Amino acid sequence: MHKVTLIPGDGIGPEIIDAARRCIEATGVSIEWEIVEAGAEVMEKYETPLPDQVLDSIKKNKVALKGPITTPVGTGFRSVNVSLRKQLDLYACVRPCKFYEGVKSKYPKTDLVVVRENTEDLYAGIEFAEGKPVTKELIRYIEVKGDVKIKPDSGVSIKPISVSGTRRIVEYAFEYAKVNDRNKVTSVTKANIMKHSDGLFMKVAEDVSKKYPEIEYEHKLVDNMCMQLVQKPELYDVMVLPNLYGDIVSDLCAGLVGGLGVAPGANIGKDYAVFEPTHGSAPQYKGLNKVNPTAEILSGMIMLRHLDEKDAANTLENAVAAVIKEGKAVTYDLKPDRDDPTAVGTKEMADEIINKLR
Ligand code: NAD
Repeated sequence: MHKVTLIPGDGIGPEIIDAARRCIEATGVSIEWEIVEAGAEVMEKYETPLPDQVLDSIKKNKVALKGPITTPVGTGFRSVNVSLRKQLDLYACVRPCKFYEGVKSKYPKTDLVVVRENTEDLYAGIEFAEGKPVTKELIRYIEVKGDVKIKPDSGVSIKPISVSGTRRIVEYAFEYAKVNDRNKVTSVTKANIMKHSDGLFMKVAEDVSKKYPEIEYEHKLVDNMCMQLVQKPELYDVMVLPNLYGDIVSDLCAGLVGGLGVAPGANIGKDYAVFEPTHGSAPQYKGLNKVNPTAEILSGMIMLRHLDEKDAANTLENAVAAVIKEGKAVTYDLKPDRDDPTAVGTKEMADEIINKLR
C-alpha cells in the first residue's frame, strides 16, 4: 500500500484529478490518498492559498499527485506552485513530450524530455516594485557599483543562477538520460548575452558532461533552440534548461506533440516528488467536463514509475495510447475538428481508459 498526497487544485483541477485517480486505481495498485486543499478557492477558509497541512502531508508521504492551481496575474498571492517547489526543494522539473499515434501533430517522431531547473533564475521571486524606496536605493547602488544606467521608473527582477544549483540539475539530466537509455543531452541558455548567469550555467553543464562520455553533449542558444525544435525536433533527446527557458520550451514541446492536454510532468527533489501536468487551471473550462484528462493521467503514470510500480505504469500508458489511437472516446482537443460533436467529456474519456485496463 502506497500513501500519496492528493491535491485537486482549482479551475479544471478537481475534474482531471478525479479522472486520474480513477484510472490509477483501475490499474490495481493499492494507494491510500490523503486529500489536501490548496489554491485561490481555499484562501477564505485558511487565510492562505498554501495551508501548512499541504506541506506537512507531502513531507509525510514523500509523493503527491497535484492538479493545477490558479495564480493571480500581477497582484495577489505568489504562485502556490512556485512556493511548493521552493519549500520542498523540488529542483528538477521533468516534462516528457512524446508523440502518441492519433494525436494531431506535424511531428510524429517527437520524443523529447525537458529537464527544467525549478528553484533559481527569474523564478527566485526576488523582485523590487517600481517606485518603492528600496527599489530606488537598489537602482542607485547598481548604478554606482556597476557603472550602468537604469531608468528611475524601473521595476527590477533578479536572476540568480548558482554553480551548485546548476550542477545538480545537469547531473539529474545526465542520470535521467543514462537510466532511460537516452543518447544526448542539450543544455540551453542565452549565454552570449547573460554571461554571468546563463554563461555560468553553460560552463557548469559542459564541466558535468565530461563525467558522462557515453552520452553526447551539446549547447544551444535558446532562440536557435526554439527554431530547431519546430524544424527538426527528432534531432533532440534530453534538454536541460534554467527555469524560465525551461518553462517556455516545455510549452513549445507540448505543442509539438499535440498540445497541453497531453503533456505530463514531475517535480523531483532529493526527498519529495510532486507530479502534475504542464498545463494550468484553464479557469474558463472549470466544471464543464470538457478538458482532456490525459496530461494528469500521464503524470499519474510517471508517479507509478517513481513508486516502482512499473507494470501498472506501462499498462496505464498503453491504455491511454490505445484510446488516443482509436480517436473515438477523446476530448475535443484530440479531434481533427475542435467542434466535432462526437468529442466526449473528461469523465467519459477516463471511463474509456479504464475499460481498456479491464
Ligand atoms: P492553461 O494551461 O491553464 O490554459 C491555456 C489553454 O490551454 C487553455 O485555455 C486551453 O485552451 C488549453 N488547455 C489547458 N489544459 C488543457 C486540457 N487539459 N485539455 C484541453 N485543453 C487544455 O494556461 P493559462 O491560461 O496561462 O493559465 C491559467 C491559470 O493556471 C493561471 O492562473 C496560471 O498561473 C495557472 N497555471 C498553473 C500551473 C500549475 O498549477 N502548475 C501551471 C501553469 C499555469
